[in-house]
Amino acid sequence: MNTIALIAHDGKKADLVSFILQNKEYLMSEKLIATGTTGKHLEGGGFSVEKVLSGPLGGDAQIASRVAVGEIDLVIFFRDPLDKHPHEPDVQMLMRLCDVHNVALATNPATAQLCILSLMRSN
Ligand code: PGA
Repeated sequence: MNTIALIAHDGKKADLVSFILQNKEYLMSEKLIATGTTGKHLEGGGFSVEKVLSGPLGGDAQIASRVAVGEIDLVIFFRDPLDKHPHEPDVQMLMRLCDVHNVALATNPATAQLCILSLMRSN
Protein backbone atom coordinates (compact mmCIF):
# COMPACT_ATOMS: atom_id res chain seq x y z
CA MET A 1 0.00 0.00 0.00
CA ASN A 2 1.28 3.48 -0.87
CA THR A 3 0.94 6.50 1.37
CA ILE A 4 -0.26 9.54 -0.54
CA ALA A 5 -0.34 13.07 0.90
CA LEU A 6 -2.97 15.43 -0.46
CA ILE A 7 -2.96 19.22 -0.06
CA ALA A 8 -4.79 21.95 -1.97
CA HIS A 9 -4.74 25.69 -1.52
CA ASP A 10 -8.21 27.22 -1.25
CA GLY A 11 -8.27 28.33 -4.89
CA LYS A 12 -7.52 24.74 -5.98
CA LYS A 13 -9.78 22.75 -3.67
CA ALA A 14 -12.44 22.33 -6.35
CA ASP A 15 -9.77 20.86 -8.65
CA LEU A 16 -8.69 18.49 -5.89
CA VAL A 17 -12.24 17.29 -5.21
CA SER A 18 -12.75 16.65 -8.90
CA PHE A 19 -9.40 14.80 -9.07
CA ILE A 20 -10.08 12.52 -6.10
CA LEU A 21 -13.52 11.62 -7.39
CA GLN A 22 -12.05 10.74 -10.80
CA ASN A 23 -9.52 8.48 -9.08
CA LYS A 24 -11.73 7.27 -6.26
CA GLU A 25 -11.35 3.53 -6.77
CA TYR A 26 -7.56 3.67 -6.66
CA LEU A 27 -7.27 6.25 -3.87
CA MET A 28 -9.67 4.27 -1.68
CA SER A 29 -7.16 1.42 -1.70
CA GLU A 30 -4.24 3.55 -0.46
CA LYS A 31 -3.33 5.27 2.81
CA LEU A 32 -4.19 8.96 2.59
CA ILE A 33 -2.92 11.86 4.69
CA ALA A 34 -4.06 15.44 4.20
CA THR A 35 -3.91 18.93 5.66
CA GLY A 36 -6.95 19.83 7.75
CA THR A 37 -9.37 21.51 5.37
CA THR A 38 -8.34 19.41 2.39
CA GLY A 39 -8.90 16.35 4.58
CA LYS A 40 -12.44 17.46 5.36
CA HIS A 41 -13.16 17.61 1.64
CA LEU A 42 -11.80 14.08 1.30
CA GLU A 43 -14.03 12.86 4.11
CA GLY A 44 -16.96 14.57 2.40
CA GLY A 45 -16.16 12.46 -0.66
CA GLY A 46 -16.32 9.28 1.42
CA PHE A 47 -12.56 8.77 1.89
CA SER A 48 -10.87 7.67 5.06
CA VAL A 49 -7.94 10.03 5.70
CA GLU A 50 -5.46 10.94 8.41
CA LYS A 51 -5.82 14.67 8.93
CA VAL A 52 -2.98 16.87 10.20
CA LEU A 53 -3.26 20.60 11.00
CA SER A 54 -4.56 23.05 8.46
CA GLY A 55 -1.80 24.27 6.13
CA PRO A 56 -1.44 27.81 7.52
CA LEU A 57 -1.29 26.37 11.06
CA GLY A 58 1.57 23.97 10.30
CA GLY A 59 -0.02 21.13 8.33
CA ASP A 60 2.35 21.48 5.39
CA ALA A 61 5.26 21.36 7.84
CA GLN A 62 3.84 18.21 9.45
CA ILE A 63 3.60 16.53 6.05
CA ALA A 64 7.12 17.72 5.22
CA SER A 65 8.41 15.99 8.35
CA ARG A 66 6.74 12.74 7.25
CA VAL A 67 8.40 13.08 3.85
CA ALA A 68 11.76 13.54 5.58
CA VAL A 69 11.45 10.23 7.46
CA GLY A 70 10.36 8.25 4.41
CA GLU A 71 6.71 7.77 5.31
CA ILE A 72 5.19 9.22 2.13
CA ASP A 73 5.38 7.86 -1.42
CA LEU A 74 3.66 10.67 -3.31
CA VAL A 75 2.71 14.25 -2.49
CA ILE A 76 -0.17 15.74 -4.46
CA PHE A 77 -0.12 19.45 -3.75
CA PHE A 78 -2.40 21.60 -5.87
CA ARG A 79 -0.84 24.98 -5.23
CA ASP A 80 -2.53 28.21 -6.26
CA PRO A 81 0.15 30.17 -8.11
CA LEU A 82 -2.11 33.21 -8.43
CA ASP A 83 -2.54 33.86 -4.71
CA LYS A 84 -0.34 34.78 -1.75
CA HIS A 85 -0.04 32.43 1.21
CA PRO A 86 1.08 33.30 4.76
CA HIS A 87 2.69 29.87 5.07
CA GLU A 88 4.79 30.14 1.90
CA PRO A 89 7.98 29.20 3.85
CA ASP A 90 6.33 25.89 4.83
CA VAL A 91 5.28 25.28 1.22
CA GLN A 92 8.86 25.83 0.07
CA MET A 93 10.14 23.52 2.82
CA LEU A 94 7.79 20.74 1.77
CA MET A 95 8.84 21.00 -1.87
CA ARG A 96 12.50 21.15 -0.91
CA LEU A 97 12.25 18.03 1.25
CA CYS A 98 10.52 16.15 -1.58
CA ASP A 99 13.56 16.95 -3.71
CA VAL A 100 16.04 16.14 -0.94
CA HIS A 101 14.47 12.72 -0.41
CA ASN A 102 13.43 12.03 -4.03
CA VAL A 103 9.73 11.78 -3.20
CA ALA A 104 7.31 12.28 -6.12
CA LEU A 105 5.60 15.68 -5.97
CA ALA A 106 2.69 16.61 -8.24
CA THR A 107 1.61 20.25 -8.14
CA ASN A 108 -1.13 20.14 -10.78
CA PRO A 109 -3.80 17.65 -11.91
CA ALA A 110 -2.03 16.65 -15.13
CA THR A 111 1.10 15.56 -13.25
CA ALA A 112 -0.90 13.99 -10.43
CA GLN A 113 -2.79 11.86 -12.94
CA LEU A 114 0.46 10.60 -14.48
CA CYS A 115 1.77 9.72 -11.00
CA ILE A 116 -1.41 7.84 -10.09
CA LEU A 117 -1.35 5.89 -13.37
CA SER A 118 2.26 4.95 -12.69
CA LEU A 119 1.49 3.77 -9.13
CA MET A 120 -1.49 1.75 -10.41
CA ARG A 121 0.77 -0.07 -12.87
CA SER A 122 3.38 -0.85 -10.24
CA ASN A 123 0.88 -2.22 -7.68
P1 PGA B 1 -5.77 23.21 4.22
O1 PGA B 1 -4.26 23.60 4.00
O2 PGA B 1 -6.00 21.89 3.58
O3 PGA B 1 -5.94 23.12 5.71
O4 PGA B 1 -6.60 24.29 3.60
C1 PGA B 1 -3.74 23.62 2.70
C2 PGA B 1 -2.70 24.69 2.57
O5 PGA B 1 -3.08 25.86 2.46
O6 PGA B 1 -1.51 24.38 2.59
